[in-house]
Amino acid sequence: MASANASDCVKVAIRVRPFVQSELTRGCENIIEKTPDQPQLVVKGDSYSKHQDCYTFNDVYTPEDSQLEIYNTSVQPIIGKLFEGYNVTILAYGQTGSGKTYTMGTCFEGNWDNPCTGIIPRALKDIFVSVKELKEKSCEVTMTCSFMELYQENLYDLLSGKSKDQSLCEIREDSIKGIIIAGLTEQPIANSTQAAQCLMEGGSNRTVGATAMNDVSSRSHAIFTVNLKVKSEEGGTTKAKFHLVDLAGSERSKKTKATGTRFREGVKINHGLLALGNVISALGGGTGTTGGYISYRDSNLTRLLQDSLGGNSVTLMIACVSPADYNIEETLSTLRYADRAKKIKNKPVKNLD
Ligand code: ADP
Repeated sequence: MASANASDCVKVAIRVRPFVQSELTRGCENIIEKTPDQPQLVVKGDSYSKHQDCYTFNDVYTPEDSQLEIYNTSVQPIIGKLFEGYNVTILAYGQTGSGKTYTMGTCFEGNWDNPCTGIIPRALKDIFVSVKELKEKSCEVTMTCSFMELYQENLYDLLSGKSKDQSLCEIREDSIKGIIIAGLTEQPIANSTQAAQCLMEGGSNRTVGATAMNDVSSRSHAIFTVNLKVKSEEGGTTKAKFHLVDLAGSERSKKTKATGTRFREGVKINHGLLALGNVISALGGGTGTTGGYISYRDSNLTRLLQDSLGGNSVTLMIACVSPADYNIEETLSTLRYADRAKKIKNKPVKNLD
């Protein structure tokens, strides 16, 4: 069983989005400065001098950096790992409105030529280019995709074509197969158009709600998964899973002015993200609240990602932040969270039959 170089297994990139209209209207000031020619940023602000911090990651993207640039630099190099038999996971983390959905392309509307097209559609296109090449070499390739939403600790199938109540799935653990999601639609996909249709269909079924921070903010974790199986002419089989995760925003209920359902959503979201943070910390060798024990079972988010964080996986976390002083607390919290993720030491092994 081959294993990849540990330093290649977890990458953490930061993306600073441009100012949005509400920040401009508020008269916000920029607090983030990237160090020239270094993947490093400094957070500063006149009235926040106690927050002078400097962070280094694998890549740092500024508001000027395009979707194409992020894809080419951080994503494309790891797509090939799927075909070598490694599970690949890309997670977008950050406060509500920081650019996670934009970056991931979860909101894709079918226009492949739009420069705003995000990671998921671009990755789908590249995957099918490689699939075509494999088929030309007489390989048998089977591909399916699924799209799940984790909302208030409940897991929903976004491709079931049924009502919300009837699309509830159950997470089960199998001693041989690992995590199984009972009732989840595994849609066969033969080309990037079919895959994108699944993305758009699922995207339109996501739970959205209005908060004071973001008019239509996603209040759920969205997990788009591509399953790949390649049987070579010689008979060897390579399997891999590609998880693309658009995490819900971590938010402070005081700032979002959330009450009732919105408040309860925030509590559940924070629970999942806290559990994810604890897993990340434990994987990184930190004691966290787990004393080194990796407690995947603490939330459905971590149970679902069990085979995607640590062990058999290559992981890219893209932490999205706002450049505005108004969001400094959330930005620093995101940077610290991403800093912990940077310390994960995966030892990926290939999925080989
Ligand atoms: P989140 O998913 O984190 O809640 P969104 O992706 O919805 O945030 O982004 C919030 C707003 O900012 C959207 O209007 C989005 O189009 C815009 N935005 C985010 N990142 C960028 C970017 N890099 N360039 C241009 N607009 C962006």
